Formats: sequence, C-alpha cells, structure tokens
Amino acid sequence: MRQGSDLVAAEVLVNAPDLVVCLDSDLLIEAIGGDTEAFLGLASQELLGRSAIELIHNEDQERVIANMKRFADGQETYRPELRLAHAGGYSVVVEVVGRRVRRRDGTHYLLVARRQLGLGVRQVADDVGIGILRCDPFWEIHESNAAASLLHGYAGEELFGRIQDLSVRVLVEPDGDSTAVSGLETAVQLHPALRYLEDAGVSSLVATIVGRDGVSRVISFDGRRVQYREDGTPGIIMLLRDVTELHQMQQELYRRSTRDDLTGLLKRSTFIQAAESLLKATVQQSGEQSGGSSLFGVLFCDIDRFKSINERHGHGEADRFLAQLSADLAQLGTGPAQLGTGPAQLGTNTEASQSTGGTTSVHLGRIGGDEFALAVQCNNRAEFDRLAAGFRASVQRTALATLHVLVTASVGVSEFDPEVGQTVEELLDEAGAVLRVAKGTGRDRILHCDTSLRSVRIEQKRLEGVLRAALRTGRIEYALQPVVDPYTGQISGAEALARLRDDNGSLVPAAKWIEVAVSAGLSNAVDAAVVEPVIKLLGSLVGRCPRGLPVIGVNLSDTSLARPDLAEWIFSLLERHQVDPVAFLVEVPELVLPVIRERAAEALRQFREKGLWLAVDDFGSGYASFNEVRDLPLNTLKIDRSFLTEQRDSADYIILRTALEMTHALGCRSVAEGVETQAELEIVMDLKVNYVQGYLLARPMPPDDFVRLLLSDRPLAPQRIEHEDG
Ligand code: C2E
Ligand code: CA
Ligand code: CA
Repeated sequence: MRQGSDLVAAEVLVNAPDLVVCLDSDLLIEAIGGDTEAFLGLASQELLGRSAIELIHNEDQERVIANMKRFADGQETYRPELRLAHAGGYSVVVEVVGRRVRRRDGTHYLLVARRQLGLGVRQVADDVGIGILRCDPFWEIHESNAAASLLHGYAGEELFGRIQDLSVRVLVEPDGDSTAVSGLETAVQLHPALRYLEDAGVSSLVATIVGRDGVSRVISFDGRRVQYREDGTPGIIMLLRDVTELHQMQQELYRRSTRDDLTGLLKRSTFIQAAESLLKATVQQSGEQSGGSSLFGVLFCDIDRFKSINERHGHGEADRFLAQLSADLAQLGTGPAQLGTGPAQLGTNTEASQSTGGTTSVHLGRIGGDEFALAVQCNNRAEFDRLAAGFRASVQRTALATLHVLVTASVGVSEFDPEVGQTVEELLDEAGAVLRVAKGTGRDRILHCDTSLRSVRIEQKRLEGVLRAALRTGRIEYALQPVVDPYTGQISGAEALARLRDDNGSLVPAAKWIEVAVSAGLSNAVDAAVVEPVIKLLGSLVGRCPRGLPVIGVNLSDTSLARPDLAEWIFSLLERHQVDPVAFLVEVPELVLPVIRERAAEALRQFREKGLWLAVDDFGSGYASFNEVRDLPLNTLKIDRSFLTEQRDSADYIILRTALEMTHALGCRSVAEGVETQAELEIVMDLKVNYVQGYLLARPMPPDDFVRLLLSDRPLAPQRIEHEDG
C-alpha cells in the first residue's frame, strides 16, 4: 500500500501543471516535476542536481537567497514572487509556496511554483517610479517592488510580515504645514491606515515615510481592495508615489498665502484663524476644569510714530527694521533672560512652554504696517504684561541696533471675558481701541481694556446695529435748527442735523452715534439720508416763502466729500426737485480741509460756480491756516461755540474778534454757532456777526415745525432754553 501511494505521488508530481521542486539543504535540486518545459524550457532530467538559484532571474537571486536563509532559520511561511529564467531567454513570473522538510542531513525544501501574471504592470510601475505594496489578507506587506524599495529603503522581501518597521507619519491635511497650526500632523503607523482601507475599500492618503536611510519623503498612497486569490480572499494593493517636491511646492504656496512677505509672520487673516482655534481650546479647557484657570487675550502692539520713522529713514530702512524686529520677536522665547521671568515662547506659531504657574501658548502675526498682534493663552494674568513688555523691549533693542534711534511702542491688551464671549476679531478691535487711547495719552505704554471701556464698546456695537437698521429701513430722521439774522430776528435758513431714534423711541445724542457711524464706515450713508430729504423739502417750499427759499445746510463727512460723483449727485437732486442751488449749503468740518484740498477741490469749485454755499464748520477748532481757507472756494465760516464768551476782556474775546474780522476780510459770511445766552448774543452782534444759530433763538426741531415757523414769518426773539425732546 505504502509503495503504491508513493507511486501515485510520483505520478502527480511529474504531471502537475505547476512546477514542483525538492531541494536539499544546499538548494540543489533533488527532484523536480510538473511542466518544466513551460516554466524553464528544459526537461526534468536536465535539471536534477543543479542549483535552484541558477534558475532564477539574476536580479531576483540575491533576495531569494536572503529569504531562503530566513526561511531556513525558522520563518514560518515563504511565499515570494520571483522570475524564473526560461531557457528561451525570457522570464516567467511565479509565485512560490514553500515548505520545510527536516531530515537527518539537514533542512530540505519542497517548493511549488505557480505562474503569476502581472509582470508587465510591475515592470512599468518600476520604470515610472510608482511603488507597489501588496498586502495579504492579514494586512501584512507581501510584495514591494523596486520603486517602493527606493521610497522606504527596505529590500522588498525584508518588509515581508514586518510592516511595523515602516515609520509613517500621516499628514492629515495636504497643506500640512506642521509649524502653522497645531494638530495638523498626527503620527500613526501604516497599518491603522490599512485597516481604514479595509473598511472603506478605496483610500488615498498623503504620509511622510521616514525611510530606513533616515530620509523622510512625502508619499501619496492610493489603495484599493482587491481579490487576493482566485478564491476571493481580499487583499490590498497600494500605489506609492513620491510627492515630496509637489508637497514642498504646495507648502511654499501655502506659506506665501498665510505669511507676510516682509517678515514671514502670520498675516492678519491667518493670525485670526490661528487665534480662534487657540481661543476655542481655551474655552474648552476652562469648561473642563470648571475653575476656569485658562486665560486668553489679544495684544495689539504698535510702534509709536512709525510714520516719522518712514519719513526720516525712508521705506527701505523702515522695512529692514520691521524684518529685523520680527526676527527678534520670534527669538524672544529662546532666551528666557531677555524676557525676564518665565521662558514663554514668542514663536510664529503655537509653542507651549512651562512658565510660572502653567503653560503659555502664543501666536504672533503682523496685521498692518507697523501693527503686530499676539494671541496668548496662559494661566496667569501677569503673562499678558510680561509679553507686552517683551514686545516693547524688542522694539527698543531693534531700533537702537538698526536705526540708532530710540523708538517706543504701545500695546493694547484685551482679555477674553466668558460672560461677553468675544470673537478674536472683537478682541482685536477692543485691543486696538485701547491702543488708540494709549496713543492719545502720551504713547509708550501698555493699556488694558477694562470693564468701563468694554461697556462703551458694547454700547457702540448696539448703536451700530440700531443705525444699520435705521439706514436699511429709511428711518434716519433729521432736525432743522434755524439760522437767524440777529438784527431782524428773521430766519434766513437752517442747519440739518441727523437724528437717530433708539429702539425705545428716544433720540440718541449725535455725539454718541456719529462717531459710531464714522468707524463703521456708514457716515456717507447718513449724509445721504439727510441730503436727499432736505433737497426734497426745499423743492416743496419753492414758491411758498414770501422772502424766498431759506438756505439749508447739510453736514458732509470726509467720506461723502471723497465721493467721485459728489457734485453730480447733488446737482441731479437739486435739478430733480427744481431747487435753486443758492438755497443749499454744504458744511465741511475744518478738520477735513486737508482732505478736501486733495480730493474734493474740483467738486467744491463746481459748487461755487453754480452758486451753492460752502461753509467751514467748527472754524477755530482745528488748525486750519488762513491760507488754507483762502485757497478754497469757501464763502461761509461757522465760528465754533468754544470761542463764545460773555466777557469782553477775555482771551476768548480776542480770538473771537480776530476770527470774525478774518472771516469778513476774506469776504465770507459769518455764523456764530451755539449761542446760548443774551450776553453771548450781544457780543457777537457787536462784532458784526452776520448770522446766529443757537439754543437761545431756536433749538433743532422736526422739519414740519420748522416749515410752520418759517411760513409764519414771525421774527425770532431770544427765549428760554428748553429741551428738544420736549
Ligand atoms: P455741528 O455740525 O457743529 O452741529 C451743531 C451742533 O451744535 C448740533 O449738535 C446742534 O444741536 C448743537 N447746538 C446748536 N445750538 C447749540 C447751543 O446753543 N448750545 C449747544 N451746546 N449746542 C448747540 P448735534 O445735533 O448733536 O450734532 C453734533 C454733530 O454731529 C454736528 O456738529 C455734526 O458734526 C454731526 N452731525 C450731525 N448731523 C450730521 C450729518 O447729517 N452728517 C454728518 N457728517 N455729521 C452730522
Ligand atoms: Ca455743522
Ligand atoms: Ca459746528
């Protein structure tokens, strides 16, 4: 029986469709069966006693020898793919399944080689440098072609079953600038990625592989689940491409889009993004700790009188100073001594460090010409001051070293208040607002946004909302305050003053909201909301006033004055309502005269040509020179209320007299604004003022009341002062 089955076995061996080989411990062929002609182009007898290695394609020999050794030393499975050298001069790709057979004279092997397709693909892949990793159903690398070897530095067979040897860091985002934002990179091993693939079927990921040579390369992995064998067991094929250069280019583009060219610091938008995520982390941490020991703040840092540095040293020097300063700021963290106590890091990115009482994280950005901002997360309020002081010290040091001058800096600090829940942008606004206060009070200092300042800001925000809504729904009102000829009491005209009603129906004082309109960029909308109805009102008065149309003045802000279509806009309105231009007056604040000179001179000239009145408002409150006033086509000066006086021997009286004399010498009409008392009135009348406007004669009133008063033609006499709102 035994004999018989051996015979059958021999028969099977000889006639097998595969190649069946027995090797002795020296890898010499002891027995061979199967279709030797097809695999090797030789008959089986010719092969006996020959070295099996000789039958293998040159290039595959070395690795097969190495692996046969490992196999002999006890590695459990051996299942390589290799190329056999066919006598016809070509190679035949086979997959080999091996088994060890222990005999007294050593380890023998029984190998079965099976034809394997796909050589063409693999060779092409090698040629174009696409790495291939094939994994078996147990998620272990089973094949790695030469191109893949170049990428990971292991000879293909070495990785067999040893996937954990590959050091892989998966970049979560392709723009993975590891220094930009924390958490962009997560280190993972490759096999979790493969497992992910098991679930998803297809996957693409970009990962950094640190090869055996220590070089890290950015590799794109494209994986696909495949049938591993004819029986349908799944496996994975991964195509590997080296995208290091592409990745570097992407990173550079990303860097350029997020960083400032001159200083390499974060740009405003990126800074805000980075700061937002830091703020989010702070809020989360505080929530978890429930004691809320994590603090967040924004520092708005600005160099004092940078404009004059620019002027005195030129832009080139000033730029070099800024670049040097940025480098210095980034280094602040490395030398704790420079910053005083704790070794907080002032890098361009989130860097955490231990300092007194905890961890401080900082983002640094350049958000304007000479404006820098720090977003700070810390555990100790003193950190804000320490970093602000660090900034100021850095500015001084750098300016001394590069410009050889003493330059100071100011910092506005705004701390996140969980009760208010500001966004980073709001904090930046707040810090900017305190910074302006710091500048206004002597510069060279650090100022914190305290609660009173904050409540002012909150109120301003609210008013901005009320204002926007009013503009949207056309609910901006205006009052008219009569301008009177004091010698006859006749109303000669009026000044239109914008009025905003709060949600509760009461009027908001202009002093409170006009500034809000300016900083929200809404002042020209406000002007337009007054100009249009005023001209319409004048149109409705045409032919109804016994002494002719009153002259009604409007206030134009500098943004209105900068409108390129300013003259056209006003002329078309006057025309539409058939109003004679001599009934319209434009008031420009003395403070904006320089702006006008540059941008609105032409419009003003056209106004004068058509006969419009042009007035300088608040004359005396700014620093307008006589020449400035003379050179512009102005014809009315409104003397600021601050010069009114009741005493003829005061300094104010002399200024008032000079201002009025100057006005008349220039051939302009004068209006004394804000006359409240009989004594003030008598003085300006003595000085031959042309017109008077003030509570003493009439308060600003609703347009209907003004029209009634005007048409009654009743002279106005000084009266007791009441309130506008009744
Ligand atoms: P302004 O152009 O100097 O307007 C005169 C201001 O003096 C008005 O304040 C007026 O109510 C006030 N006034 C008049 N008589 C007296 C008086 O006897 N005593 C005192 N203490 N004040 C008097 P108002 O309406 O609060 O406006 C304040 C400022 O808001 C205006 O100063 C003007 O600069 C601005 N403004 C008002 N309406 C507009 C507008 O439509 N556009 C622009 N751009 N600014 C406007
Ligand atoms: Ca005015
Ligand atoms: Ca005024």
